[in-house]
Amino acid sequence: MTAKILDGNALSAKLRESLRQRAAELAAQGFQPGLAVILVGENPASQVYVRNKIKACEAVGVYSEKYEFAADISPEEVLGMIAALNADPAIHGILVQLPLPPQFDEDEVLEAVSPEKDVDGFHAENVGLLAQGNPRFISCTPYGVMEMLSAEGISLRGKEAVVVGRSNIVGKPMTLLLIGASATVTVCHSQTKDLAFHTRRADVLVAAVGKPKMITGDMIKPGAVVIDVGINRLRGPDGKLCGDVDFESAKEVASLITPVPGGVGPMTITMLLANTIESADRASAK
Ligand code: NDP
Repeated sequence: MTAKILDGNALSAKLRESLRQRAAELAAQGFQPGLAVILVGENPASQVYVRNKIKACEAVGVYSEKYEFAADISPEEVLGMIAALNADPAIHGILVQLPLPPQFDEDEVLEAVSPEKDVDGFHAENVGLLAQGNPRFISCTPYGVMEMLSAEGISLRGKEAVVVGRSNIVGKPMTLLLIGASATVTVCHSQTKDLAFHTRRADVLVAAVGKPKMITGDMIKPGAVVIDVGINRLRGPDGKLCGDVDFESAKEVASLITPVPGGVGPMTITMLLANTIESADRASAK
């Protein structure tokens, strides 16, 4: 069997077209969606992510503001900026690019963002709402995964889903969404004893670990749907990206698989746009 490859770029392009139309309608009513992005320090990967997010905003008609701070900025100054953005009616979404330098308490910063503008879905209130099955904002990467599954018409009801990774950003919200879709969910992490035992039972396998190619074809159930969230840069002159799944061996076993790059990555940014536009929509209805 050779798996069908789920093209995140193509699905993103389709979704972004309808988002562009919705953003234009809101702008015509005086509610152009607005996103503020805060970047602290010079982490090269963060700089690329922020640049891509701003570019994506421009392409769909979301107004964006970027605030860059030096790595040694005081947390108070950033918290002051967040407070000002919370009160700014032109801004519907606020994103603080992680990781933050060591002098910051990341939780304190994420909690400072108004839950009504928390388009990353990281605020404790929004995590709680998601856990209750009543989400306000769903964090963008797991949201993108659910959109990919839904676009393929994959029903999760009663399926065995295995999530590898339990981070607050990916693994945990992914688990909550899969439970909400009535899958039977197993969560694996660094202390899991026999990872392959679990992954081989998965009808739907989501890998969000950050270890290049650690899930190999022999760890996958024949016919499984394999979602690779990992983004790892391989060493070497060309610094190629790869996922947590060994694509070459996995695609011979799975029925559907996401590639890296071009799978979940573009969907993450698309769902950030969707959340920002949804937030502007809510503001327009007040
Ligand atoms: P974290 O480092 O926060 O979490 C990694 C998780 O993997 C942890 O729960 C850890 O377990 C678990 N883990 C580590 N080693 C093993 C192992 N040997 N077996 C099983 N589980 C293990 O990473 P993130 O969740 O933030 O990101 C995961 C990956 O997804 C990264 O490659 C990241 O770059 C990528 N990513 C991609 C995005 C996209 O847009 N496509 C967006 C966000 C992230 P424990 O909790 O026990 O330490």
